[in-house]
Amino acid sequence: MTFSLADGYDSLEDFLDARAPNQPEFHQAVTEVTDDIKPIIDAHPEFKSANIFERLVEPEQVISFRVAWQNDANEIEVNRGYRVQFNGAIGPFKGGLRFHPSVNTSVLKFLGFEQTFKNALTGLPMGGGKGGSDFDPSGRSDQEIMRFCNAFMQQLYRYIGPDIDVPAGDINVGAREIGYLFGAYRRITNRFQGVLTGKGQSFGGSEMRTEATGYGLVYFLAEMLKHDSDDLDGKSVIISGAGNVATHAAEKAVSLGAKVITLSDSAGFIHDPDGLTQEKIDWVRAHKAKKGTTLEAYVSKFGGDWTAGKGPWGVKADIAAPCATQNELDKDSAKMLIDNGVLAVIEGANMPSTAAAKAVFRSADILFAPGKAANAGGVAVSGLEISQDRMRRLSDADQIDETLEGIMTDIHAACVEEGTRDGHVDYSKGANIAGFRKVADAMLSQGVG
Ligand code: GLU
Repeated sequence: MTFSLADGYDSLEDFLDARAPNQPEFHQAVTEVTDDIKPIIDAHPEFKSANIFERLVEPEQVISFRVAWQNDANEIEVNRGYRVQFNGAIGPFKGGLRFHPSVNTSVLKFLGFEQTFKNALTGLPMGGGKGGSDFDPSGRSDQEIMRFCNAFMQQLYRYIGPDIDVPAGDINVGAREIGYLFGAYRRITNRFQGVLTGKGQSFGGSEMRTEATGYGLVYFLAEMLKHDSDDLDGKSVIISGAGNVATHAAEKAVSLGAKVITLSDSAGFIHDPDGLTQEKIDWVRAHKAKKGTTLEAYVSKFGGDWTAGKGPWGVKADIAAPCATQNELDKDSAKMLIDNGVLAVIEGANMPSTAAAKAVFRSADILFAPGKAANAGGVAVSGLEISQDRMRRLSDADQIDETLEGIMTDIHAACVEEGTRDGHVDYSKGANIAGFRKVADAMLSQGVG
């Protein structure tokens, strides 16, 4: 049997090995989507004859550039910068920048591919893109971060613009880095434009952008529970990560009556059986903002346990929210969660579950929300920031929060519509199909080129 979606290949694996060799994360992201969209393509000869599948999995542009910059010891360091402009069929490319040693073409192609579906799900006119650098900001001084951002933008500015591509933050790129990048863009181009989102509010940033991914995640979770005639009140939640997504998810979950009992970083995790409070979350944020800290200090401050070198997945809880990074949750962790009776797994990070872990979740009778649907709140508020920049008029926090909640409710509804079979909602399938339909229709309408 040959692989019906791409002529001349025996299987999807064969196709990916030939077209994108040595890109395991990208293969994982494409494989996960293909199973769900294949029946739709098979049922639509117009998608097949327009070769939509092969076009969808090939980025429009993959840009890579040298970033040379001077560190505090006056040495010249060289990093690699990237921008993957994956699919622009429904709007200018949009997606974050990540600064991390693990950044490479495979990781950015997986992220750009996921972003294409995620952005389509928001209902806002944004194509998919992703970028960043293998630069490791840990232990760097503020001056070094600024010089790196200046050098990075000195190359990136050629490829972006409000009608072309609008980057934002991702891992290790927050408000400080976006400020430096925006300043560099403005000085290089002599233009004050909404070319990045996640900006400070004094220069065109939106209210709630910082909170949006974590809050949106919990709005999505609340919708899932509501759909099952349940709610968050009194539920125990384990969260991994201690960054922007994790701490804001914790904050919103606590405010809706849940008990959040873990957070983690690359050194280990804390388990606080009494549950996090706003005070504890604020402390974690301030502590993690300092250079070279781990969460271990939490325990001497507030009690609980610290476990080094592990994620929190062995802690019994009703809800698990992986909010750190890709492939952080493996098959054994997934089985532990199921054995411990987890009700819902909700992905705050992008592709945090390995393919095998995801298979465990999807075959178990639990609620499973994939990142491309559940963590879309961040980019959704980025979309609102783009509109606000165009009008040069900012909305207030309550308005944005309400719109965010509405968008997450709509994404949930789209997943339910496309993913329900025999009374069970397969949210991954729903998200993949709903995102695919929108992008594929736009590609079809725009012809070949
Ligand atoms: N990096 C975020 C994501 O994974 C947000 C991207 C954006 O706001 O453009 O969706």
